Order: sequence, then structure tokens, then C-alpha cells
Amino acid sequence: MVYPETFTGLGVVDFDDHLHPKTFEFTPREFRDTDVDIEIQACGVCGSDIHAVGGHWGRPYCPVAVGHEIVGTVVKIGPNAKAGIKLGDRVGVGAQCDSDGTCKTCCRGLENNCAQNIWTYFGKDVKTGINTMGGNASHIRVNSKFAFKIPDSLETAYVAPLLCGGITGFSPLLQHKVGKGTRVGVVGIGGIGHMTILFAKALGAEVTAISRSRSKEADAKKLGADHYVATSDLDDLEKHKDTLDIIVNTGSSFSGSNFTAVLSLLIARGTLVFITAPPANENIEIAPLLLLSRNIAVQGSGIGSPEEIEFMLDFASKHNIKPWVEQIDLNEENLGKAWERVEKGDVHYRFTMVNYDKFFKK
Ligand SMILES: [Zn+2]
Ligand SMILES: [Zn+2]
Repeated sequence: MVYPETFTGLGVVDFDDHLHPKTFEFTPREFRDTDVDIEIQACGVCGSDIHAVGGHWGRPYCPVAVGHEIVGTVVKIGPNAKAGIKLGDRVGVGAQCDSDGTCKTCCRGLENNCAQNIWTYFGKDVKTGINTMGGNASHIRVNSKFAFKIPDSLETAYVAPLLCGGITGFSPLLQHKVGKGTRVGVVGIGGIGHMTILFAKALGAEVTAISRSRSKEADAKKLGADHYVATSDLDDLEKHKDTLDIIVNTGSSFSGSNFTAVLSLLIARGTLVFITAPPANENIEIAPLLLLSRNIAVQGSGIGSPEEIEFMLDFASKHNIKPWVEQIDLNEENLGKAWERVEKGDVHYRFTMVNYDKFFKK
């Protein structure tokens, strides 16, 4: 059986051999009148995919297709799907595929913070208990509220990474009303970090890239960063002390990270925002004295709301936001290798898996 009865996924079928993904068939939950079915064209490889396939967040179920930076074409649409989407449209889906839509949080337009948020993969449909499957698949079925029409000017392989990594870095900038002259620090020049620099610059901010060593300095400057701080360099830290309004931490592993040094870069009443989900056993240690003496806030921010994602796509189109993407044809071997390379940090700075039609022979 194939679409519309079943979809084909490419993912982990054995967690002990997670770098060798295989194809499998799966049956999606029933089609609801607010849903869309999307035939997938491309999907970015997010750091979260690596944590998921590596079992860093446990092993909720298997087989599992990961991937939540999805671009594809609407091939079926429910009668009550949201306005503005029609059959044949090119749409994107990020890390969230549904929420209850009725709670206080959803009613405030903060669906990404809903207690019944359903993740695009490693999620469970509340009504049916059926496990969700991500974007390394032939198709995906989602609540149309979480499918976003993509402006024509944005190329598929380059817009894909914005749908999780991009919005995750962009949302805190919007929450803090970053604009002309705001002094923004971005910790970690990687997948999310490089997109956060691009967005902060496009908003008019003065951007400081922050990394452990100087190895990313040339890339940071090329991305538009105005300043660079290596946290391993005490003189550098001293020079940039007390200069930033907001710092977005985009690193995905915190072991050995020195947040005392990073916090010293904030001005009084500044904010440090955490936006990534590291392995489940990693915690942050921060001395309260440091926070109270300078009225520093520490905040978390998870992906972005549907409204913010719509705004981001429009903004990216107007400001020509183009992440640094290496395109890779989707197949078993290439996907496993892509995960391995992300694990090793051998990516500058995002992979988008492409040519889904060839692989799934659609
Ligand atoms: Zn809700
Ligand atoms: Zn992600």
C-alpha cells in the first residue's frame, strides 16, 4: 500500500544501529477536516534529529522518521483547513504539528507553549495515541494551522532550515523587540546560531558572535557579525563586558560551558535566552548572586508561534535571508552520513535533504 492509505518513512528502525536508517511503511492517523496532507520535497537536518536518533532523549518508539524542517506540496486539504492554503501550494512544517487549540495558551496565540503541543516527531496524537512521524518521509499529515505557505522568492532547500532552526533563533529576537541598535549576542556559530546572526542583522541589531575559540571568527564576520568574542580569551571577555542587551544561546551541548563568562557580557537588566534542548541529563549551573547583582534575567524560548512563523517567512523573503546550506540527495546511506557529520560538527552550517521524489519514486 502507498499514499493515501500508507506513507513511507526513512528513519531509525534499530536504535543500536541508528546511523543506518531504513525505509518503512506507516499508517497516519485519520484525516480530519482541518488537516492537510503534504507530499514532501525536502527537509532540513536539525540538531534535534541527532539527539533523537542517538537516543539522547530516550527511545520513545521505533521505527521513527525524524526531520522537522519540512517543505512540500499540499496534495489533500480538509474542508475546514485554515484560510490562505490551497491544493498545490508549497508549504512548510516545523517542529510542531498540532496543539489542542482551545486552552488559554493557544487562545493567546502561543500554540508552541501549549501543554498539549504535539511534536512533529516523537509526539503522540492526543485523540488516537498514534505516534507522529517527521519529514524524512514521502508524506506528512498535519493540522493546517501548522502548515505555512512559503513565499515564492524563497528556494525550497534554503527555506527548510528556517522552519525549526530559523524560527527558534528568530522568536526571542521578536519577543525582545530587537531592532536598530539593539546589541545582540549569539552564542554558538552553528546551524541555529548562523541563522540567528542573519536575522539579528536584518532586524538592524549590532551583533556579537560568541564562541569558545576563534575558529569561527571568519565565518561570523562573513555572516555579518560586528564583533566576535572567544570565551576562552580572558582579555576578549574583559573588553566586551557589559555590552549586550540580549544574548541568545544556540549551543546544543552545555558540558563545560562557562555561563558566568557569558553573563558578564550582558548589561544590567539584560537577558540570556536558552533555545535548544540538550541531552536530557544536562543542566545549567548559574550563581543567583550574579543574576541579582545586575538584575539579569534568564529565559527559555521554544520554537515559535504560528504567527511568528508566518511573520518570519515574510521577513525572510523581504530581507533575502539565506542560510548556508549543503544539499544532499535523500537515500539511506546519505541520511545516515548526514547525521554522522552533524554529530561530528562537520556541517557549515545546515544540511537539507532533497530530491524526495526520486527516492520515494512519487
Ligand atoms: Zn493549547
Ligand atoms: Zn529542530
